[in-house]
Amino acid sequence: MNLEKSLAAFHEAKRIMPGGVNSPVRSYANVDCNPPFIARAEGDRIYDIDGNEYIDYVGSWGPMVVGHAHPQVVRALQEAAARGTSYGAPTLLETELAKLVQTVYPSMEVMRMVSSGTEATMSAIRLARGFTGRDKIVKFVGCYHGHSDSLLVNAGSGLATFGVPSSPGVPRAVAADTIAVPYNDVDAITRVMEEQGDAIACIIVEPIAGNMGCVPPRQGYLEVLRQLTEKHGALLIFDEVMCGFRASLGGAQAAYGITPDLTCLGKIIGGGMPCAAYGGRRDIMMHIAPVGPVYQAGTLSGNPLAMTAGLETLRILTAEPEAGEPDKSRILTLKTKKLLLGWQEKAGEAGVAICAHQAGSMFSIFFSEKEVFDYEDACAADQKAFAVWFKAMLEQGIYLAPSQFETLFLSLSHTDEDIARTVAAAGKAFAAVARQRRDLF
Ligand SMILES: *Cc1c(COP(=O)(O)O)cnc(C)c1O
Repeated sequence: MNLEKSLAAFHEAKRIMPGGVNSPVRSYANVDCNPPFIARAEGDRIYDIDGNEYIDYVGSWGPMVVGHAHPQVVRALQEAAARGTSYGAPTLLETELAKLVQTVYPSMEVMRMVSSGTEATMSAIRLARGFTGRDKIVKFVGCYHGHSDSLLVNAGSGLATFGVPSSPGVPRAVAADTIAVPYNDVDAITRVMEEQGDAIACIIVEPIAGNMGCVPPRQGYLEVLRQLTEKHGALLIFDEVMCGFRASLGGAQAAYGITPDLTCLGKIIGGGMPCAAYGGRRDIMMHIAPVGPVYQAGTLSGNPLAMTAGLETLRILTAEPEAGEPDKSRILTLKTKKLLLGWQEKAGEAGVAICAHQAGSMFSIFFSEKEVFDYEDACAADQKAFAVWFKAMLEQGIYLAPSQFETLFLSLSHTDEDIARTVAAAGKAFAAVARQRRDLF
């Protein structure tokens, strides 16, 4: 595969942007190769400036669930752009998108549109603090909620620890109000809530984790979070920025039957344009300005192009199925299952142990013999093997996320033929992993 132009473009970009990128993981730092620079994308295909074509399982990190450049989305966007790209004033589109979202997420009785997942979670946290009058929050190790100060705390492995910033620049005093607890560990969260529950404003969780690879909750775990928050007067925030419209149409809350107090959505809700939302119980949301005292605003919030892309994407996703056809979510789930079964079979043939996880059309594999339940387990997986596998897939025209801690995504535009091609490529990539391991010994 020739990546000469991409390499030159990367060198030039690195002179003017940190790492040559506007978001760190795009730099391919974890897999020690250079990123293809992208020229265009259509359906499930993405094309780099060197003319290489790939089957895309990144989907812009989640949003592109109907495929790239879907004609219905593109047409609507072109028409919307011709009417002006931003007004900073109310539009019909905002109410329309909010109502459509609410039909799928009835727990979001009232919601607000923002421009990124980071903004959605940051605002939901502020609201939880403003509503409860408490400062402390709980998050889980390995869950990512965007890069706001309070949430950029990880605290590493081990049991409940007082927040240690994951990044220089996060004030220690801010981090100290964030308690990080291992994910999927009932005893750990129960202990923290028993000890400090009356000082805790909220528990924020990725109800299906997607930022340590895809790690679904253990049976009964989300129920425990719901019970503990109710018992201690804290709010439960589901960050469904990734798993919303993905794990199932109604996200984790529909799949597991748990109603959070607040929900954050992002990624798919904007259909590839900058849009996210937070919302939930009416009495809580009424604390947001201008109705209430908790301030939150945005010049481009509810942007007409973002609303348009989100609306068209969700319309395609929620469309009534043809007679005898399963709905779109089901189709995505079945296709993803087929792909993962293929990968597992090929891994078995190559003698490479993997742990495969799926939640709807979110999926990932860990090079691990053990089941992965939390961040510590994910870190224990063989990352060198992942890098070998990743590069072998890229060279065969399969575009995956360049880190084992990222989730992969399938779209409606992936065909059975594309899946078969991807499974065949995986066979060679697993063989490359097996070869590399033999060479090491
Ligand atoms: C992507 C993501 C975010 C952050 O969204 P941005 O739009 O990148 O700011 C927050 N939470 C989760 C669960 C995410 O996957």
